Amino acid sequence: MNCAVCGSPLLFDRVVFHCSCGVFVHAYCWDKHVLQAHKPAFEVGTVDLNSEFKVKESKVEEEASDKQVTPSIE
Ligand SMILES: [Zn+2]
Ligand SMILES: [Zn+2]
Repeated sequence: MNCAVCGSPLLFDRVVFHCSCGVFVHAYCWDKHVLQAHKPAFEVGTVDLNSEFKVKESKVEEEASDKQVTPSIE
């Protein structure tokens, strides 16, 4: 059985996460799987000294997925 994130075999003596969506991933691949497969809503920002959260950007999830880098050939 292989990890759904990195594709490497799951080892019997290592911790394996069984997600509610049915896949098995390494413990260290867990956050990647959640981000890639389930895309939880979140905001990126900073916390100041008064513990106030300030949003920096609201859209992060669609980062560079549809940006295509086409090298210009001249
Ligand atoms: Zn993995
Ligand atoms: Zn999942």
